[in-house]
Order: sequence, then C-alpha cells, then structure tokens
Amino acid sequence: MAELVGPLMRGALASLGIDAVTPADTGRAPVESCDLIIVGGGPAGLAAGLYAARMNLKTVLVDGGPIGGQLLNTELIEDYPGFESISGGDLASKMGDHARKFGLDIREFEPVEAVEVRPGGTKVARLESGRELHAPALVFAAGGRPRKLDVPGEAEFAGRGVSYCAVCDGAFFQGQELAVVGGGDAALEEADFLTRYASRVTVIHRRGQLRAQPILQARARANPSIDFILGARVREIHGNGVVSGVRLERDHEERDLPVSGVFILVGFLPNSLHLPAQVERDAAGYVLTGRDLQTSVEGLWAVGDVRAQLTRQVATAVGDGTTAAVAVSQYLEGLRDRRRDVALSPARERASARSET
Ligand code: NAP
Repeated sequence: MAELVGPLMRGALASLGIDAVTPADTGRAPVESCDLIIVGGGPAGLAAGLYAARMNLKTVLVDGGPIGGQLLNTELIEDYPGFESISGGDLASKMGDHARKFGLDIREFEPVEAVEVRPGGTKVARLESGRELHAPALVFAAGGRPRKLDVPGEAEFAGRGVSYCAVCDGAFFQGQELAVVGGGDAALEEADFLTRYASRVTVIHRRGQLRAQPILQARARANPSIDFILGARVREIHGNGVVSGVRLERDHEERDLPVSGVFILVGFLPNSLHLPAQVERDAAGYVLTGRDLQTSVEGLWAVGDVRAQLTRQVATAVGDGTTAAVAVSQYLEGLRDRRRDVALSPARERASARSET
C-alpha cells in the first residue's frame, strides 16, 4: 500500500503552506461501522468487494494508494481469461468500476496503520488519518512486493525488459536471450520455465552456491538452454528504451552480458506486518489460512499475494477474493443466528418452565 498523505507527508505539506486533507475535512465520523472491511485494493480485494457488495453487505475497501495493487506495475496482461490483452491499469479501472456499480465503498489514498481485534471480536482498521473502521469481519488483501535489486536501470526499465514474474511476462520474449537473477527456488524454477520461450537463459547468482532445492538445481543444470554465472553481482541494467544488457561484477572485474530481458527473482515480501501478532504466518511472513481462507483468527480472512499459496496470479487472487466473500457472508449469517438464539433463550426458558408446570 503506497502511503500518501500520512502524518509525515502532512507535516511536509504544511511546511510548504499546503493544507492536506485532515480527518475533520472529509466529513466522516471518527468511528464508522460496516459489515465488512477490506484492506487492499488489488484484484483479490476488489473481487471480494464486488461479491460482498452484490450480496448486500455494507462493505468498505481501503487502500493506501490508488486501487489496482500489482496490476499497476504490470504493462500488459494476456493470461486473464476473457481478456486477450489488456494493460494492468485498464484492468484495475474496470475491476474498480464493476465493484462500485454494486455499491462497494472504495476509499483510495487511505493508509491503514494497523488491523486490530478488540475484545468481543470486533475487527478494527486503524487508519493513518486517525479514524477507525469497525466490523465483525475483515478481509486482508494487502498483497506484497517483489524484493528489488536496487541497481541503476532497474526502475527505469521495469515493464520494458525488467520483470519480476516469468509466468506473467515470459511469453513476450520468444526466441530471445534472458537473464534470471537469484539462486533460490523461484529463480531456478522460473529459469526452467522461461526456456519454453527464450533461446538462452543465464542464471546470475551472487554466491558460489545456489540456495534452491537439489531437485530444482538438477533440473536446471540438465536443461541445455540454461547457463550459470555464479559469484557475480548485477551492477547495472542498461538499454535504450528497452533492456539490451546487464553489467556484471565478478572477482573485481566487470563485464557486459547482452540480454533483452532480466527476470529478478530474489524473494517476495508479503505486506503482513499490519496484522495482529496472533494471526499465524509462515517463516517468510505469508499468512496461513484454512480451506475458506479464514486465518487463525475468527472473522479475519487473508486473500491474494499476502497468503501462503502456490502461485501469485491475477486469476488466483480474484478466486481468493470470491471464496472469502462467500465465506464472510455465511459467517455473518451464522453470527446473526447466534445473536438471535441468545436473545431468544430467556423467553424460551420461561416458555419451557411454563410448559413443565
Ligand atoms: P529465497 O529462497 O529467499 O531466495 C532468494 C534468492 O535471491 C537467494 O538465492 C538470495 O541469495 C538471492 N538474493 C536475495 N537478495 C538479493 C540481492 N539483493 N541481490 C542478489 N541476490 C539476492 O526466495 P524465493 O526463491 O523467491 O523463494 C521464496 C519461498 O518460496 C521459499 O521458501 C521457496 O522455497 C518457496 N518457493 C518454492 C518453490 C517450489 O517449491 N517449487 C518455488 C518457488 C518458491 P543468497 O542465496 O545468497 O541468499
């Protein structure tokens, strides 16, 4: 979640004599209640919001930046069913418009400071603006981000030869030479996958030893289209409009490797820090969920890239959001039934006492 107009930014704007939006300016109450809070406006959150709003749940979705999540970093998508080719930005706008049509209340540039579970089970999204959203159910869809190399050219050529996802972008490099940076499972698995399209894939890893599981190493080494450069660091990604090569350093010597694409697979960082400590995560910080995508905390779901699962695709994120929204609806029905039973139980006891006399 991009953090725009948080307290620091507000201070900086004030020092320039510019008034930022303050909680009081919005006309919104400091504490608002709804049926469902969704944190994160990528495909998973938007799909959950669309389904929930269409099931008549009063649903508020908050995102620290504009809606779209990772879609906004994706140039072209051609593996989302029903769309032969669409830009990430266009797909994000379509998803947002579609969800709004069913009544989803989307609030952009509304960073969340923390998610809390209060006594009694109320879920609270504490916003940086100082306001709070309260609901019996919360879907956490804050996604994550690929770890960056932080070298010159990486940001400049993102979407123009620099990619963080082989399944998403590999098909754009038919017959071309590629570099894969990293030595873990993802790097070797995706290098192998990229040889479906590329004429040659060079794996560049900073140490002499690969980190990946032996089976993935054996498969990659047996692939005649994969080369390895070990003990080397990427110092720069260069090109002219699109990537034409990488500059490597090994044993204090630099050299250029000409490639048309660089796939950076040096880890992924799930945005799970905003969740309370009692929400179970794996060692890498991904949130663990059950079959219906509920976390270890009742009434709190995790969907999309922030949860531990096999793949991180738009289609699977949308599927996650759908599953969670249906599960939330059933959960809220169950809560209503429980409350009705509690309210009715003294009357039932009196009635059964009367019938016994
Ligand atoms: P990972 O296991 O953390 O590996 C990251 C790789 O990137 C490491 O080789 C690391 O080098 C390198 N690296 C990190 N920062 C770097 C930097 N600044 N510059 C250059 N290299 C850098 O991450 P992953 O491969 O994305 O896997 C993440 C998790 O998903 C793992 O638990 C993995 O087992 C799992 N996964 C499993 C499968 C599978 O089972 N088929 C497939 C994909 C992912 P060092 O080795 O020197 O630290």
